[in-house]
Amino acid sequence: MAASLKPEEIESFRRLLGSLDDRLRGNVDRMTEEALRGENSTNLSNVPLHMADVGTENYDQEFTLGLIENEQETLKQIGEAMGRIRDGSYGRCVECEQPIAKARLEALPYTRYCIECARKLETRE
Ligand SMILES: [Zn+2]
Repeated sequence: MAASLKPEEIESFRRLLGSLDDRLRGNVDRMTEEALRGENSTNLSNVPLHMADVGTENYDQEFTLGLIENEQETLKQIGEAMGRIRDGSYGRCVECEQPIAKARLEALPYTRYCIECARKLETRE
């Protein structure tokens, strides 16, 4: 069983989550802007010459929107992890309530599950 986190370790994870949150928000804003600009730039001077180009543009836009969805999901998980820091349950698996290994938290500071439960639940967290 992994040891519980020390207060200074929790503090460093809180800072890590905060900077991850800022960075993702910056990305989401920028990508949303780019995707919307792509949508609005359909005017005559911009019409692609080949149908293949149309396909590629749609694909790129869908791909970007897919990334935004993932980032919003990650942002949600970061917000929940911040909530667990506030209520003192951070660093414990929400499934089995055992402490999550520190190395795992360092790789995925917003994870809800210990490695065993993540495997069991087949989540990418
Ligand atoms: Zn667990």
